[in-house]
Amino acid sequence: MSDIIQLLPDHVANQIAAGEVVQRPASVVKELLENAIDADATEIKLIVKDAGKTLVQVIDNGKGMSVTDARLSFERHATSKIKAAEDLFRLNTKGFRGEALASIAAIAHVELKTKQAEDDLGTSIEIEGSVVKSQEVAVTPTGTSVSVKHLFFNIPARRNFLKSDTVELRHITDEFHRVALAHPNIAFAFYHNGSDLFNVPQENYRQRVVHIFGTKTNEKLVPVEEETEVLKISGFVGKPEFSKKTKSEQFFFVNNRFIKSPYLNHAINAAFEGLLKDSYHPSYFLNLTVDPKTIDINIHPTKTEIKFDDEHTLYAILRSAVKHSLGQFNIAPVLDFDQ
Ligand code: ADP
Ligand code: MG
Repeated sequence: MSDIIQLLPDHVANQIAAGEVVQRPASVVKELLENAIDADATEIKLIVKDAGKTLVQVIDNGKGMSVTDARLSFERHATSKIKAAEDLFRLNTKGFRGEALASIAAIAHVELKTKQAEDDLGTSIEIEGSVVKSQEVAVTPTGTSVSVKHLFFNIPARRNFLKSDTVELRHITDEFHRVALAHPNIAFAFYHNGSDLFNVPQENYRQRVVHIFGTKTNEKLVPVEEETEVLKISGFVGKPEFSKKTKSEQFFFVNNRFIKSPYLNHAINAAFEGLLKDSYHPSYFLNLTVDPKTIDINIHPTKTEIKFDDEHTLYAILRSAVKHSLGQFNIAPVLDFDQ
């Protein structure tokens, strides 16, 4: 008899985890933007070259990291955001798995520069494929900059699987939209190959939606506001005549996190019943606030799917709130015995 089981070395475990967390450059964009938000940044800059194949860099003016934390941030399961399993049920941060930086550093060349406000000097770390190449004291502004180059340099199959720059940039832009919409109180700039794609100041939600989707959007927005014990809704739906053949303007944010929910989407469709032409889809930009105890975010590494304790109640509240808003704008059919 011989024993054959071995514990995988960290760099191998990281590379495996990276397969789940980092599918494409847009995944890096999402993770870095979320870290900047969790660091309480008020200004975030996203710099991308060649659709992220050459560079993804995120610069924030958030709280930065100490020397020790800067190094630890690349360890797997190293996080400042939760301490115990119970914390998973009162999350108010985007991150909590402590996996993103470790995963990204396992499959790319990463340079981190960071400084806390109380320090004169910061730290710079270079890490390639989980191997730390250098760590130095650095002159750098308060906040954090993370540059990710040569993504998938050690996984040729993944690198070859990347789509054209147009497609990858589309994915990045989608992630950027989701994050920027969820945080109108943060200023964002987004540069691709040196040109300025977005530059949005701190603003209110209507202004942010209009900034991202164009001035014409303004006239189509119908406000939706509702507050019950279990759910607070705020945001906009598009007037039915502005519905689209694509689902490109459908956004749910739950506690400021973009999520996909076919079930809640159905509630919106139900509220629009009789108002849309066949194969047209309503636009919506809706923020849902629920008690973190009533949701489970930890079902998938990218956290775009969540589980609600009481989906049926949320569905009913959402449908009726949207219906009510459409009705107020004299959009709903006149006779409505449903409410
Ligand atoms: P998670 O976000 O799940 O905690 P990450 O691997 O994304 O895991 O980050 C690890 C830790 O590094 C974070 O918990 C945080 O303490 C620190 N960190 C990462 N990015 C930043 C940033 N931009 N500013 C300040 N701290 C950061
Ligand atoms: Mg994170």
